[in-house]
Amino acid sequence: MAQINSFKDLVAILFAEQLLPAGISIPANVAPIPGGVGNSLIAALLAAPCAVCQAVLDEPLTGCVCQTCWASIRPITPPICDACGDPLPRQPQSLIPNRQSLGQSPIPSPQSPISGLCAQCVRHRPAIERARTIGEYDGVLRDVIHALKYDGRRSLARRLAALMRARGADLLEEADCVVPVPLHWRREYSRGFNQARELACHLGLPVVDALVRRRHTRAQVELAADRRRANVAGAFRLRRGWPREPNIRGIRVLLIDDVSTTGATLESCARALHGCGASEVFALTAARVVSRRLGHF
Ligand SMILES: [Zn+2]
Ligand SMILES: [Zn+2]
Repeated sequence: MAQINSFKDLVAILFAEQLLPAGISIPANVAPIPGGVGNSLIAALLAAPCAVCQAVLDEPLTGCVCQTCWASIRPITPPICDACGDPLPRQPQSLIPNRQSLGQSPIPSPQSPISGLCAQCVRHRPAIERARTIGEYDGVLRDVIHALKYDGRRSLARRLAALMRARGADLLEEADCVVPVPLHWRREYSRGFNQARELACHLGLPVVDALVRRRHTRAQVELAADRRRANVAGAFRLRRGWPREPNIRGIRVLLIDDVSTTGATLESCARALHGCGASEVFALTAARVVSRRLGHF
C-alpha cells in the first residue's frame, strides 16, 4: 500500500484509484491521517465498490479491486506449449516432444513439466520464441483488464504486472528490454493511455517504445479468426526520428500486451522487430484467448 503521511497523500490515492464520487470536494487544510486509519475511514465514508464484483471494498486504499477477486484469478499451469504458452492436454502420449523434452521422464510433475509444442505451433512455428501469460481471457481476469482499459483504472496495471512478473520470470530474466505493443495514435489519444505501456512500466526492465502502429486496424476480437492475421500484417514498423531511432540490433526483446487473441498482433510486431535485427523476441501478456485452440489436438 502507498505511504500516507498527510491528507494530501490520501486524496492523491483516492483520485488515482477513482474512489472519489464525482463532484466531491476535499477541504485543503485538514490534519494528517495515519495510514492505518485511512482504509477504515474511507471504507466507511465512501463505501467504494470493487471495480469487478461491486462488493464494498474493505481496504479501498490498496486498490479498486477486492482481494477476493484477485485471489480468484486462475493462472494457466503446466503443461504448457513451449512456444505460445497455451495449456497442453495432460495425456503424455498426446504431447509432441521438442528438442529439450527428448530424453526427459514422460511423467509430468509441477517441478518438471513436460515441455512440448501444441499442434498449432507445430504446423506454424511463431516468430515469437516463447510467449507466456497470466491466464485465460475470461472471468475476473477479463473484467480486471476491461476496468484498466475501458474504465481508465490505470492503477490496476501495477498489480496485473506483478502477476505477469511471476508467470514470465524466465522471460524477464533473459530479455534486455520490454517493448509495449503500440496503439494507433488516434486510439491512444481517445483512450488517454496505452494499457500495454502501463503494464510494461512495472516489469523492472527498460521500456523501449520501439514500434509504431501505422494503420488504424480494427480490434482483433471483432474479426473472424482467418481475417485477424491479414488485419495486422505489416501494421507495425520501427519508430523513426526524434529523439533518436531505437537500436534493437542484437537485442533480446520482450513484447508486452494486455490480451493476445490469436497471437497475430504479437506475430506482426515480432516480424517488424526481427526485420530490424532483434536477436530474439519473446512475449508476455496479461491474458490469452486459448479455449478454441485446444480443439486442434
Ligand atoms: Zn471484487
Ligand atoms: Zn503453441
